[in-house]
Amino acid sequence: MKLFEDTYRHKGLRMKLIKTLKDKGISDENVLYAIEHIPRHFFLDSAFDKIAYEDRAFPIGEGQTISQPYTVAYQSQLLQVRRGDKILEIGTGSGYQASVLAEMGAWVYTIERQKKLFDKQKEFIFKKKYPNIKFFYGDGFEGVPAYAPFDKIVITAAAPFIPPKLVEQLKTGGLMVIPVNEGDLQRMLRITKKEDGSYEEEIFDYFSFVPMLGGKEK
Ligand code: SAH
Repeated sequence: MKLFEDTYRHKGLRMKLIKTLKDKGISDENVLYAIEHIPRHFFLDSAFDKIAYEDRAFPIGEGQTISQPYTVAYQSQLLQVRRGDKILEIGTGSGYQASVLAEMGAWVYTIERQKKLFDKQKEFIFKKKYPNIKFFYGDGFEGVPAYAPFDKIVITAAAPFIPPKLVEQLKTGGLMVIPVNEGDLQRMLRITKKEDGSYEEEIFDYFSFVPMLGGKEK
């Protein structure tokens, strides 16, 4: 069951979370604004109500998780989101990261390989608030060619490698933020696509994501 009530207590906890994120180095004001204004507890079962604003990942069913707020903030900051950006997200999960990008004024195309998680988005609480999110059921390794090219692409699962089809679907000068496996953890990479189709790579911190898997699941 989910509870859709945003109380002063929840808002207070979000303000504390914002302070934590700033202390950890998040400085993009638009990212902080979005996180401060989106009720994360709406994306979780009511059992998590009291802890929804701890800086932790939580289970969302089907063995998957909603990413830690710091991770969402970190990836969103690296994406340098501008109003009107067309962004592809791999791994819809709870829909929280998609909502953060939508709140920042992006057009969001988000794809999920687990049918049950995808189906949950039919009751997406912010359908009216964020008409700028489109949900797809499919394999993120394939991207969403029908809507390519994208200004930005964000992968929210541990990628075994940089998927070539996603590089193809990026605009020249576009950015991709992707956690790539390095032993038990993932290295956050940001690639910038060059005019000749190749890319430059920047290396950031280590994170821990659920795996990016090929194919779809019913
Ligand atoms: N962005 C999500 C985080 C979800 S965890 C959120 O804000 O809640 C990662 C998600 O990626 C899981 O739901 C998992 O099912 C999905 N996933 C893993 N591999 C995928 C793939 N190849 N294509 C699409 N989704 C994938």
